[in-house]
Amino acid sequence: MKTTPISKIVLEGREFLVKRDDLFDPYLSGNKYRKLHTLLYAPKEKYNKLISYGGTQSNAMLAMAALAQRKGWVFEYYTKTLSKVQKKQGVGNYAKALELGMQHVEIEQELYRDFIASLRVTLEPLSVLVDQGGADTMAREGVAVLAKEIRDANLDFQSIATPSGTGTTALYLALAFPECPVYTTAGIGDKRYLIEQMQALHPLPSNLIILEPSKKYHFAKPYKEYYEIYKFLQKAGVEFDLLYAPLLWKVLLEQTEEKILYIHSGGVSGNESMKLRYKAKFPELFSL
Ligand SMILES: *Cc1c(COP(=O)(O)O)cnc(C)c1O
Repeated sequence: MKTTPISKIVLEGREFLVKRDDLFDPYLSGNKYRKLHTLLYAPKEKYNKLISYGGTQSNAMLAMAALAQRKGWVFEYYTKTLSKVQKKQGVGNYAKALELGMQHVEIEQELYRDFIASLRVTLEPLSVLVDQGGADTMAREGVAVLAKEIRDANLDFQSIATPSGTGTTALYLALAFPECPVYTTAGIGDKRYLIEQMQALHPLPSNLIILEPSKKYHFAKPYKEYYEIYKFLQKAGVEFDLLYAPLLWKVLLEQTEEKILYIHSGGVSGNESMKLRYKAKFPELFSL
């Protein structure tokens, strides 16, 4: 098992440490690597099929496609019906996951909920089902491995930060580091939605702190200030994703002062398709 490295970056005169979980694998990266850790190190013979469901640009989908390919398992992925435009897109996580062998099955909108609920019931002994986004109690084991790597490195930091979608990673990190604040932000939905998602897995520990921006941002929408933060971070030496990281970095720079260890959550492979959207919306950002 290899340990991911630590980078130091300086932003506005402050030093941050970054745990480079993005470097594990280009597709099985960041917190998806941690959340799928148990499956990644399971014996190949334990399963022959990985099943999941959700969105078609999801980083979790891509990570599971990469995982199944490594293990020689079939990867079956269910989504709602796609538009022709979505299907034709030659870039992004969907195209890459298909290349890695993903078997994509579309389910009509009206049947989707019931169908997804039935997946667990009809599951065969050699199949494993991972819930949308990898929001699974199985993730706790992989995050515990991450925590051990951090402790073994004897780093100097006061708080930890990582962005949230389902909140699975931030929650299990906070449970693994009860002595230190763990900062996160709600990338999808608002703080209330994030708390609900987390509470479905475990009661919230008091050291888990959900920071809120002064302005509301919608998930997966291009924002000029997100792109500016992305470029600022890239200049400082590390590329982050364009969906989750800019919001957390923004509030960390605005609302905290101490020495922070930031857990890179991966997702850089999605930047290619996101940048096309930024280019279309803010051409001036690309003219220099
Ligand atoms: C999936 C993902 C997240 C959210 O992780 P959760 O454990 O669902 O909160 C954050 N950042 C990136 C880049 C991701 O791909």
